[in-house]
Amino acid sequence: MIKEFLNSDTLKEECGVFGVYNHQDAATLTYYGLNALQHRGQEGAGIIVGNDSKLWGHRALGLVTDAFNSNTIQQLSIGSINAIGHVRYSTSGGNFLVNVQPFLIKSNEGYFSVAHNGNLVNADQLRVSLENKGSIFQSTSDTEVISHLIRHSKEATDILQIKDAIKQIVGAFSLVILTQKALYAVVDEYGFRPLSLGQMENGSYVVASETCALDVVGATFVRDIKPGEIVEISNNGLQSEFFAEPKPAKCSMEYLYFAQPNSVIDDVSVYTARRRMGEQLWMDAPVDADVIIGVPESGSLVAMGMGRASRLPVERGLIKNRYIGRSFIQPTQELRDQAVRLKLSVVKHIIEGKRVVVVDDSIVRGTTSKKIVKLLRDAGAKEVHFRSAAPPIMNPCFYGIDTSTKEELLASNMSVEEMRVYMNVDSLAFLSVESMITAISRDYEGELKGQCVACFTGKYPTQLFDNKLVFQEKC
Ligand code: SF4
Repeated sequence: MIKEFLNSDTLKEECGVFGVYNHQDAATLTYYGLNALQHRGQEGAGIIVGNDSKLWGHRALGLVTDAFNSNTIQQLSIGSINAIGHVRYSTSGGNFLVNVQPFLIKSNEGYFSVAHNGNLVNADQLRVSLENKGSIFQSTSDTEVISHLIRHSKEATDILQIKDAIKQIVGAFSLVILTQKALYAVVDEYGFRPLSLGQMENGSYVVASETCALDVVGATFVRDIKPGEIVEISNNGLQSEFFAEPKPAKCSMEYLYFAQPNSVIDDVSVYTARRRMGEQLWMDAPVDADVIIGVPESGSLVAMGMGRASRLPVERGLIKNRYIGRSFIQPTQELRDQAVRLKLSVVKHIIEGKRVVVVDDSIVRGTTSKKIVKLLRDAGAKEVHFRSAAPPIMNPCFYGIDTSTKEELLASNMSVEEMRVYMNVDSLAFLSVESMITAISRDYEGELKGQCVACFTGKYPTQLFDNKLVFQEKC
């Protein structure tokens, strides 16, 4: 599909979760919440609902609006007061219905359902160990590994079984888990992926990957679920405890690329952080130029920040085509070089004869960046200066973001000067890791709340495992 081709040179979001407890419109609220989280995954969506006697649900491939219609939502609404939901992005080859979450498990002890945002680094080892003990897996998802670990626990209560499972897993996990008696929100000790708690007017609690989903359902933000925390929401209210010592390492790319600009993560506005990255980027790498343009969408706010710092005009010199179909015809090899023109169009009179600074959120493989530069040169740009709002991405992510392999990452294989020549630009500069952290944490006067920057530095917050035993779906 052409969309896959066009997106093959970008970082991929990997899943969003939502949950609501004790609300008569739980299914509908979850449907709205998932729509607000659609940017975190477009390949499949699911909602599991329940009450104190059973859980049931619906999962399907595609966008939330493809997966659900008024009939399915009505069927989920009748008799349910609790719900969890999930949107997912799949790695190539793994986009099958069996991998769509939330997973629903029925055993002689009752029902439970799990939805996961993140990626386990020891899922392969746990899967083999569980299979050796007789577990049969339906999917390639590491979320099913978590489900089996909960199911296999010998502990007496739901929360003890969940804690028993999570002490065995390593990596990134922001989980919502629904049982017949409670909704659980769990975040790994590093807090890689965001998870926020909100409250509806009637007192019902809501959890969501991002605060933008709380806004959409009319919930008031209460607080973020903290690294190493497990929250239980039941008819007894909200109980919280820590299952591990917090070692905060929030994914820096959430601020730069993944999260919606209207979301707030760890008290930092994504919009403001992104704009400040542009200000920092200009201060780090100024250049004589006539106009700044951002590659839509996530480059646009960075461009705005660069404009504030430089006092140069910021223009929409690139226009994104939002209507490329999800199943557009397979392009021939000859057409592939032109495919970027379907996605991005140049406003020629903004570019022609100008010294242009173009800023994108990141450079992954570099193929799209190179094509954007060609578009600008073909439109008559006198000079093209490329800026990346992310530092050079030199290492893969093991925590739920599809960054390509080390061999495919341009910055892993070339110096900045070699990349400049490859991309055919007059100058090339990246935001430094230090400036990125400053931009995110400036509200705290530079005091770090803890960011993961492993894809830039290679310093991974967790232990890593040999992940080649079996193929695992990330989420
Ligand atoms: S390695 Fe990079 S993409 Fe992955 S969690 Fe860390 S900062 Fe985010």
